[in-house]
Amino acid sequence: MFGPTAMSVEFEKFREVLDSRYSQDDIALIERAFEYAKEAHTGQVRVTGEPYFAHSSTVAAKLADLKLPSEVIAAGILHDVPEDTARTIDDISREFGEDIASMVGAVTKLGKVKYRGEDRYAENLRKMFVAMAQDVRVIFIKFADRMHNMETLYALEEKKRVRIAKEVLEIYAPIANRLGMGEYRGLFEDYAFKYLQPKEYSWTQHLLEERVKKFGPAMERALKNVDFELRKSGVQGVELHGRVKHCYSLHRKLLRYKSDISKVYDIVALRILVKDIPACYAALGILHGLYTPLPGRIKDYIAQPKPNGYQSLHTSVFDDQGSVLEFQIRTHQMHEETEYGVAAHWRYKESGTTPNERQVRWMEELAQIQKELSTTDFMQHLNELKLDMFSDRIFVFTPRGDVIDLPEHSTPIDLAYAIHSEIGNKAVQTRINGEIASLDTPLKSGDLCEIIVDRNRQLPNEDWLNFVKTRHAREKIKDALRGNKPGLWSSLMKHVR
Ligand code: MN
Repeated sequence: MFGPTAMSVEFEKFREVLDSRYSQDDIALIERAFEYAKEAHTGQVRVTGEPYFAHSSTVAAKLADLKLPSEVIAAGILHDVPEDTARTIDDISREFGEDIASMVGAVTKLGKVKYRGEDRYAENLRKMFVAMAQDVRVIFIKFADRMHNMETLYALEEKKRVRIAKEVLEIYAPIANRLGMGEYRGLFEDYAFKYLQPKEYSWTQHLLEERVKKFGPAMERALKNVDFELRKSGVQGVELHGRVKHCYSLHRKLLRYKSDISKVYDIVALRILVKDIPACYAALGILHGLYTPLPGRIKDYIAQPKPNGYQSLHTSVFDDQGSVLEFQIRTHQMHEETEYGVAAHWRYKESGTTPNERQVRWMEELAQIQKELSTTDFMQHLNELKLDMFSDRIFVFTPRGDVIDLPEHSTPIDLAYAIHSEIGNKAVQTRINGEIASLDTPLKSGDLCEIIVDRNRQLPNEDWLNFVKTRHAREKIKDALRGNKPGLWSSLMKHVR
């Protein structure tokens, strides 16, 4: 029997990346976006020589890998349509609705943000941050987009490669980290490392390969053995796999240990995934019954999670031939959280009555955040959502509802100059969260800070130089003092007037 519509061969192939949890409606939407974008990009070619649409569908496939909702996948397929084809955002809105169009629009806007060195850094971060607070789905699309660009970075000229690799290392990887997306962070760092430090990269890569060769057979044996014993003991939901440390992460660790690789135990590790927390401890007990644990190497990150929320039991054991093997034991849910972080919250629930319950809750929370962008609760909400990403930056609100990001311990004077140098020069007083405060008070994230100016004031106070934290404020103060220090002549002229 034939279906209601004949699928194109290409979409038929793409469909294979969609797992069974996507409904007929989901698939119909994705197919519609697929054919629309394919047509729109007809004739366009990427620097790699592939048809442009291959990029769009790869980005969508990555979003499907994250098991994100169909609207996100559709927006992913369409993400370069308004920028690179004759079709506009309005066309997309008419065809696919407001929600998908707004994601595509936000990705397009973010695409215009380019890393050009230190001074642009804060602005990039802010834009990413705001996009994330408004709709974290946009960040997933941007991540998938950038990941495919990194995979094909070889096709660009050297200068561009370095610029993009730096941007990925400085902006994308830290954001992925703060969003708990371990897999994306690791891949971003490895790609950037490869282009920024090619020598160190290939040396570290070589170390990894050696290690895998050396420990492969022992791991294979242990894997079978442990799997058998866990199942025999009735531990539920057992799934085992090996994992190799990310290259850049090993590089960082080697720098810490002065290149002494013998101190790094977790280059290759075995992961045991089980059903629930009691099963984690049961598995640890069984494992220690099989192999002797290395003293001092047992870490219980379930009872005491890492600051970023990471949970697992870690242990290193001697196998029957004296090799040291590291095991990481966690529940499937902890695993999802570690690898996919915030994205894991966006997935369809594995089973249960309402498939989108969690997702809907996130939608609501994010919609709420958007509304609260101009209130002091904003930072607190973000923290609750584990989006507290910039530990060394603070975000301060102005009475107009603007969010200004500043280095830690910045003062109202730093804020005043960040808004405008005239506001800085004429500042006389400040109100922090409604209370009068002194101009050198260190600000905290979420503070609502108002600068009171005296329009008749001519010059900043030289003492401010003793406490301002930003270079920007310091320079503006010096400029004002230097430029406006009334010389004899001009002070005389004042009297004449
Ligand atoms: Mn793109």
